[in-house]
Amino acid sequence: MEDCIFCKIAKHEIPTEKIVYEDGYVMAFNDLNPEAPVHVLVVPKMHISNFDDVDEENFVYLEKIMKAIKEVGKITGISEKGYRIINNCKEYGGQAINHLHFHVIGGTKLSSKINVG
Ligand code: 5GP
Ligand code: ZN
Repeated sequence: MEDCIFCKIAKHEIPTEKIVYEDGYVMAFNDLNPEAPVHVLVVPKMHISNFDDVDEENFVYLEKIMKAIKEVGKITGISEKGYRIINNCKEYGGQAINHLHFHVIGGTKLSSKINVG
């Protein structure tokens, strides 16, 4: 999709923070403003606006994202102790970039509270 920053990053049209993992379906790269020692964004290479737009036709991307998240966990060394996966969906979910992405956050002990503030 034109003018979508994560589409451009996924197509290598613009540079980004360190790329942690990439395959034919998915790219994972460090968040520009990390909120923990490890903060990686995992995005599909096809433009899907948000989690609510995942459907039977594009579901393969979700499967690939889930596999990629596990790879990211191994690559960044957070698998053993654990990590958090976050998806902000649409305006009320706090989504700022309208290209599906999962935050993979770890490298420290996170609060068990879910932040709704
Ligand atoms: P959202 O609120 O949409 O779930 O999160 C968007 C995330 O994308 C934020 O954590 C923000 O720091 C990150 N972000 C925004 N623009 C860029 C960018 O150009 N490059 C990278 N690597 N991360 C970005
Ligand atoms: Zn996009």
